Amino acid sequence: MPSKWFSVSEMLATSTGLDNTPPTESPLWSNIDQTMQRLDAVREVLGKPVRITSGYRSAAVNKAIGGEATSAHCLGHAADFVCANQDPADLCRQVIEAGIQFDQLIAEYRGSRWVHISFAPKMRGEVLTYRNGKYTPGL
Ligand SMILES: [Zn+2]
Repeated sequence: MPSKWFSVSEMLATSTGLDNTPPTESPLWSNIDQTMQRLDAVREVLGKPVRITSGYRSAAVNKAIGGEATSAHCLGHAADFVCANQDPADLCRQVIEAGIQFDQLIAEYRGSRWVHISFAPKMRGEVLTYRNGKYTPGL
């Protein structure tokens, strides 16, 4: 089923110049598709345009941008996004209050600000804030 709000190209975009498209028959495609469906629900809750700043990452892309080796981005299960210049913690609260299921939800403050959300393979419902170089539980 196609996503209502997102395109595959948004999920594959990278500024690294590296190839970031999974092989044709890869199971990653169904993960990416599922993530987009779940992002649709996030978009509906937030009610404003959601811009994906990083979706799927090939191993090479992930390495180039300094992502964690075990990143859910590499499985197509995660996306980073911004929404209408809103504070990441505020966005996270809206997602939580709406009852959206997720594995990890992170309010990221790293110079620029964004929300990281992942949906699988588990659904731990873990909420974190990244600020001043470290993760802390909660918002
Ligand atoms: Zn992320």
